[in-house]
Amino acid sequence: MPYLYSCRQCGAVSPERHSRRADAEDEQLQHRQAAHGGLAPAAGDEVRQVHDETRGDGCLPSGSFLLFAFLLFAVLANCWGR
Ligand SMILES: [Zn+2]
Repeated sequence: MPYLYSCRQCGAVSPERHSRRADAEDEQLQHRQAAHGGLAPAAGDEVRQVHDETRGDGCLPSGSFLLFAFLLFAVLANCWGR
């Protein structure tokens, strides 16, 4: 699962997900330097693992499954309406 950096102090979230935790921690350091003058991270400033939405392996069904389910519902609703 990819890693994401988020800064609770200013609400910034890394624009991309990193496959390695070290890459997200590098982005954390760069953000601390650029936005907060290199100050120590505050509470809530964290690198965390997140679900990879692009692979569809999270808790939510993938977009293609939702499209299939919608089309099936539309066909069945059309048949029952007659
Ligand atoms: Zn920040």
